[in-house]
Amino acid sequence: MTRPDTSTEIYDAGISTGRLVLKFVEGYVEDHLNSSFVDGFLDVDTFYGIVYLENNLYHIEKMNKFPELRKAKDGESLIYKRKFVGLGSFYDFIRNKKKVLSNKGNICTLHIFMDESFTKKICNSDIKYCVSLTVSSVKRVNSIFRSTDFNSDGYPDNIGFRIKRISSNNTKNVPKYNDKMINSKMYLESFALHPDLKDVCLGIAFTAQSFKNNVVGVSYAALPYNFYGGGICSRYYNALVISYFHGNREIVRQDLNDIALAHELGHSFGSFHDINQEYYLMSAKSTGVLKPTSFTFSKRSRDNMYSE
Ligand SMILES: [Zn+2]
Repeated sequence: MTRPDTSTEIYDAGISTGRLVLKFVEGYVEDHLNSSFVDGFLDVDTFYGIVYLENNLYHIEKMNKFPELRKAKDGESLIYKRKFVGLGSFYDFIRNKKKVLSNKGNICTLHIFMDESFTKKICNSDIKYCVSLTVSSVKRVNSIFRSTDFNSDGYPDNIGFRIKRISSNNTKNVPKYNDKMINSKMYLESFALHPDLKDVCLGIAFTAQSFKNNVVGVSYAALPYNFYGGGICSRYYNALVISYFHGNREIVRQDLNDIALAHELGHSFGSFHDINQEYYLMSAKSTGVLKPTSFTFSKRSRDNMYSE
């Protein structure tokens, strides 16, 4: 099953560079309607993304994304498998799709920024691949939110995201790339002043800048009692930053990048960290080990976000 192609206007340094046609793919493996799903995108004719089949999760990524395999020819891909029991919200979303889509919930608009370090280091300056990568990550995280039952009434509440604008190399307000690790708050604070953020609920900056203290994502929390709080749909500080670099190494596993994005969006919606619960989206630290709950919000997080 393939979705209709999505045509997206891309802005490079604030100037429109035309429309890109992105080919997203969503569906299931033939003859495995109830035990599989496929989610990703086509770049030229190659599929990148995830295939979930019979309790196993397969990732298909660009081979030359892996440092040890840099010499691979462009277009060669690598498939790897991880044993995995259940898949939390991703899977629920597919099952609940009809119900989810028939509800009218809150859809928040996003502006996606990819800074120069991201387009260069992560995508080898291939903007189309970069856009497909970030948009498909937002799509997966959107599935998590859309399928989450925030108010515990037994039904998902259709809270989700819509991408309003995508910009690459829009360097206004973004700190210059630094070979050394920098303070993530400093990056976030300057990005949050970007003038274009007033047109959307939330701006997300994707970067390859590495941050101190192993930070891979940083955001403003939407806290009712915090005068300086920001977060989703806030007039100020409606910004978050995701880095695809951890220390000096690129994070090659897309599922960990997706979790970082979902985690920071959780803060933007008003959730705190889980205490003594390691394998939910709002755990303070990600060990890289995944459990069936890793893509879901704990009851406590859902309560935090709902009371907002
Ligand atoms: Zn956090």
